[in-house]
Amino acid sequence: MSHIEEEIRNITSSLPQGVRLVAVSKFHPESSIEEAYAAGQRIFGESHVQELQRKQGHLPKDIEWHFIGHLQTNKVKYIAPYVAMIHAVDSMKLLREIDKQAAKCGRTIPCLWEVHVAREETKYGFTPDECRAAAEEGEWKRLEHIRLCGLMCMASNTEDLAQVRSEFHLARMLFNELKAGAFAGAPYFKECSWGMSHDYPVALEEGSTLIRVGSKIFGERVY
Ligand SMILES: *Cc1c(COP(=O)(O)O)cnc(C)c1O
Repeated sequence: MSHIEEEIRNITSSLPQGVRLVAVSKFHPESSIEEAYAAGQRIFGESHVQELQRKQGHLPKDIEWHFIGHLQTNKVKYIAPYVAMIHAVDSMKLLREIDKQAAKCGRTIPCLWEVHVAREETKYGFTPDECRAAAEEGEWKRLEHIRLCGLMCMASNTEDLAQVRSEFHLARMLFNELKAGAFAGAPYFKECSWGMSHDYPVALEEGSTLIRVGSKIFGERVY
């Protein structure tokens, strides 16, 4: 069994019911994706539009491509025809553009709000309060070509797993609050995307339903 196949099997066999693995294949060659595909993996995560375009054109059509990186509004149109989920929606402006491009394709695109819970400064993501406000305001309900399926977050880049846990916990509490509140009538609001190679076991304990694992499966990325 190849390393890739072995890792896919190890990870997926340890996942609780209802939790899915997004195999993060950015910067890895198509041959690596094919190996994972042969092991049964169907959900792959990419974070660069051009790279995703190339891979999507060459690889099997039953792959579910998840866009997990920061997405510029002017690039949404390229991936709108096929992308299965957009994880890091960090502004209403981006959500509106996804809705517009999805409409042109006659699609409804599943999206996640990126919530900023890490200690680190970043320009991306909604703060928990911005998320609450956007949920209450309700524009997401009027956008008919997106479906807001949950939240995504990245923990601080640290070895301190207690810190990481507290950040995932904060995201999960916010998810629970929104699910009981503004999203109470939205059964599709059920996804929590957190956990990467070094912290996904903690993420699972903090309610993740989609883990995004790259280097543990495919090895280190060469940039
Ligand atoms: C690259 C990336 C991952 C995967 O990280 P690994 O440490 O390689 O598992 C997960 N999520 C996002 C948003 C990424 O950009």
